[in-house]
Parts: sequence; C-alpha cells; structure tokens
Amino acid sequence: MTHIETDVLIVGAGGAGMYAAIGAARAGAKRVLLVDKSLVGRGGATIMAQMTVAAALGEEAPDDWPLHLADTLAAGRGLCDENLAAVLCREAPVRIREMDGWRVGWARRDGHIAQVTAPGHSRPRCCYVDFLNTGPAVAATLRRRVSRIDAIRRVSNLIVTDIVTTGGEAVGAVALDQAEGEPVTIATNAVVIAAGGLSRLFRRNSASANMGGDGYALALAAGADLVDMEFVQFFPIGHLAPRLVGMDPIMWDPFRYKLGGRLLDGNGREFLADYGSDESTGYTTPRDIATYAIQKEVAAGRGSPHGGVYLSFTHVPRGDLDAAFGPVIERLARNGIDLGRMPVEVAPIAHYQMGGIAVDETMATRVPGLYAAGEAVGGANGANRLSGNAIPEALVFGERAGRFAAAHAKARRDGWDAKRAAPAVDAIRRLRDGQRGNASAAALLEELREVMWREVGPFRTAAGLVGAANRLASMRRALADLTVEPGRAFNPTLADWFELRAGLIAAEAVTQAALARQESRGAHQREDFPDTDPAWTCRQRVALRPDGGLALKAVR
Ligand SMILES: Cc1cc2nc3c(=O)[nH]c(=O)nc-3n(C[C@H](O)[C@H](O)[C@H](O)COP(=O)(O)OP(=O)(O)OC[C@H]3O[C@@H](n4cnc5c(N)ncnc54)[C@H](O)[C@@H]3O)c2cc1C
Repeated sequence: MTHIETDVLIVGAGGAGMYAAIGAARAGAKRVLLVDKSLVGRGGATIMAQMTVAAALGEEAPDDWPLHLADTLAAGRGLCDENLAAVLCREAPVRIREMDGWRVGWARRDGHIAQVTAPGHSRPRCCYVDFLNTGPAVAATLRRRVSRIDAIRRVSNLIVTDIVTTGGEAVGAVALDQAEGEPVTIATNAVVIAAGGLSRLFRRNSASANMGGDGYALALAAGADLVDMEFVQFFPIGHLAPRLVGMDPIMWDPFRYKLGGRLLDGNGREFLADYGSDESTGYTTPRDIATYAIQKEVAAGRGSPHGGVYLSFTHVPRGDLDAAFGPVIERLARNGIDLGRMPVEVAPIAHYQMGGIAVDETMATRVPGLYAAGEAVGGANGANRLSGNAIPEALVFGERAGRFAAAHAKARRDGWDAKRAAPAVDAIRRLRDGQRGNASAAALLEELREVMWREVGPFRTAAGLVGAANRLASMRRALADLTVEPGRAFNPTLADWFELRAGLIAAEAVTQAALARQESRGAHQREDFPDTDPAWTCRQRVALRPDGGLALKAVR
C-alpha cells in the first residue's frame, strides 16, 4: 500500500485547490500534495465557469471593495458572514491582478480590463476572459503556475474518502487510488478541503460529475461544522428545450449580459415586473428572485410546454445577434435553433452551494489542522450569491487557506498514527474485493438526485422535506447492503459507493437545515412559510453526532 508524507495536503484541484497549493508553497511549505479524484486542474466547476469574475478593480467605472461588500451583503439577504464576505471583496482585486500578471487574458477594452455589470452589482465589476471561456482560462493559468513549483506534487485519480484525526487534530487522510483500486494513506501536518460543491446531488444541475458533496462529508466526519446548508442556488435560466447537444445548460447567461433578452411566460408575456423586478435597463434580476418568479409562473399554469418559461432574443436585430453570439450562432443552428425567429425554453437548475464548511477568516475549521477553501466553504454569500462571486471566492479563499495551512504545518510535529487510519483503509480493501447486495450504488445515486430535486429543490414544504429526510436516512442504512463488483482498476461501482456515502450525508445536511428553517429567504423558499421572518435572521450550524445523526444549532 502506498503511504505519502507531506506538509500540507490539498483535497481537490479546482481553482481553490490550485491557488491553495500556490499559497502554501509561497508561504514556505516544502512539500505540498495536491490531489484530485479526476485529473488535476480539469475536474469540478472551475473549468466550466463561463464568464463573470467580480472584483472591485474600478477599471470601467469608479469602484472600491466596500461597495462590492455592500452589494454582496444585500444579495445575501441578511445572512452573510460579514468577516468572510469582507475578505472576499477586499482580496478579490489582488488575486485578479495577480492572475493578470500570470497572463490569464482578462478581456480588455481601450487598454483597460473590461468589466460588465452583472445582476445585483451596483456598477460594472465583472471581468471575464471571453464569453464561455473564463473558467478554462483560469484553470489553465493555475495549472501552469502549479506545474512550475517544485514543492507541489500533483496526484490525479485519488478519491479522498476520510480525513484522519488524532486527539481531535487533522493529521492525514485515506484515499482510494482509482487506477489501482488500492488504499493510499497520507500523513500531513495540515489539510485543506477544496473539494467544491454539491449541485450534482440534484437531478437538474449545471454540475460536472464530481460535484457530489464529498468535501462536506469529509469535514463533518472529521469533526468540523457546516453552516447555511439549506441555501442551494438554483440558476434560473438553465436550458430546457429544444434539445441542445454539446453545449452547456447555463450558456444563456453571457448572452443576457450582452443583449438583455426577455423572459416570457407561456403566453408570451413578460412577468418579472410582477415580482418586483424591472429589466427595462437590461439584465438586472438576482438569481433567487428570477428562480422564484419562474417557478411561480409554472406552478400557476403559465409555463412553456416543457415546464419552464421562454427566453427570447427575437426582438434583437439580426446583426446584433450575429455580433454577440459569434460562432455560437452556427452551433445553435446545428441544433435547429434560430434565435432571430424563436425563443428557447429555460428553467431553474441547481448550480452552487452557498452553505458549506464553517471557517474563520484564516479558513480554519474548528478542527486544528483542518482548513477549507472555495465553494466547499459556507458563509460569505449568505442566502443568495451574486453572479461572479464564486470564482474570486475560490481564488481568494484558496490562497488564504494554503498560506495559513502552511503556517500551521510549520509549527506542528508529525502526529500521524496509522492505527487511526486503519478503519478507512479496511473499508476500501473490503469493498474492492466485492460485496453482494440488494441494489447498486448507481441506482441509489439516481434516486437520491430525484428525491433532492423533487423535495429539496427550488420550492420546499415540511411534508416533502420530512419524506426526503426519511428516505435519505434509510438509504444511508442500506449502504452496507449494496452490490460492489470485485475489480480494482477504475472500478465504477467502488467509486459510486463512496460517492453515495458522501452524497447522502451532504444531502441530509441540506434537507434537515431546510426543514428547520421555517421561513423563506433568498434561495430557500418554503411554500408553507412564504414570508421572510426576522426571527430567522440567524445561521444554522450542522455537526455530526457520535451516533451518526446530524445536530443543528442556530447561531446569531
Ligand atoms: C457550469 C458552471 C458555470 C459557472 N460559471 C461561473 C461564473 O461565470 N462565475 C463565477 O464566479 N462562478 C461560476 N460558477 C461557480 C464556480 O465555477 C465555482 O463555485 C468555483 O469554480 C468552485 O471552485 P472550487 O475550486 O471550490 O471547486 P471545483 O472547481 O469544483 O473543484 C473541486 C475539485 O475537487 C475535486 N474533488 C471532489 N471531491 C474529491 C475527493 N473526495 N477527493 C479528491 N478530489 C475531490 C473535484 O474533482 C474538483 O476537481 C460556475 C459553475 C458551473 C458549474
């Protein structure tokens, strides 16, 4: 069995993980291990991000980070962790300019970095590389930087299954090497969880395959708290129909920035004004309000044929369409879509998790030696995230987590204890030799996504949430009785089993927090409690009890 020793272990190599590795190495860590369950720098959400990166650069119009903070707090509907939000807004320009120096290629206008106004931002603040290309450019730039730093060792195809603790401190991890089907143990002085979000837990989502909530499950099991888990952002205008092959379901957003576009109900009527949003000056409606409005129109029987609403650019002159969409126009034509003549159907899809691992401003959890970064962290965005705040969150929190984890690692002695890793190692060995059971993890993953979409999606009720919580708990009990096929190299049934185990606990955290919060606020909409209740201006923390259940606590 492979055993690796390192100073700082980083779990997940998206934007947050790669910046954490750079931050740790710059802070003096001699051995930084960056691992990912897919290929380093090519999995997760970062590489899929399309456009907006919010930072108060003031290149397009006067701006400063306190103005960005004010917008972030307003969007968060009173629930942002103000300290984390301030860190995000203050340091975003530093990271964006640093990446500019690394030639990420931020789009320029008249020699300065171009910035557009995204919904909820009070001024043009979002930079981008190119429409539909920001995430790939950010990921490629960080991959290049990481590969030039000798202290950083990169390992792909490693699923971290457990964080190892001794005396309440994080001292290592156990992982499944997918290529060999073998356990790997990792001794370290600090761990950064940068494993991204959980939108893949919902049937309709914008996610890549590996955004199934692993980071939240790892943190809970290690003794850390989660916070704000009920706040899952649903991206309002995910593509619904007609069928669109080879394109991203959230591709319409950049074109809304360029051209506005109109959201219409099934009868061709604009409806956002009915929900207090005025789009006469362009694309301004925040995501929580747009999602709410679309869901309400559909529920009232005014939806489009496939159960969404229409997004129309038919009023835009053909020349403007061609200029804005460029080569995308041809790809749409290959899918039978002519935007000059027809609207498309759109509907909300799960997109981003506002909640996550509870950390302080040094990105430290309450478990000494355990840090978190990126979308895995909860709090900065409260009940609703502004467009463009997630990429800077990954970069800013990543850099900080790496830096502070390296400082912690320097001051610590090796605390590795192989005995503490043994149960996790044994679990991998037992499962990879095969297990006969009543069902497959793949089937339960499908059901999990269906349950989460139906009962814990954009609209929630007590009855639906209770039903979901019960079903999730019984699925968790069934884990011991699932079939895992014997086989070592890239055994999908083994990977599915671990994905399901993590996904179930993350899903339970979302469901129970949603059930407890008896009000509607931001992305959390309860049909049985439709109003925002000032008494609920508090955040909920979730912890794992010794019996495996979840404990919720409201904090003010
Ligand atoms: C389609 C799409 C478009 C988006 N567009 C924008 C945008 O325009 N602007 C914006 O600000 N935000 C956008 N976002 C959100 C933003 O991209 C993410 O919030 C951000 O990139 C998260 O970065 P991260 O590093 O925290 O996580 P990720 O980039 O998701 O990386 C997490 C990594 O962890 C790995 N991992 C997970 N579990 C394990 C495990 N158990 N062991 C080892 N590795 C593991 C994954 O493979 C992955 O590589 C978009 C998201 C999506 C899905």
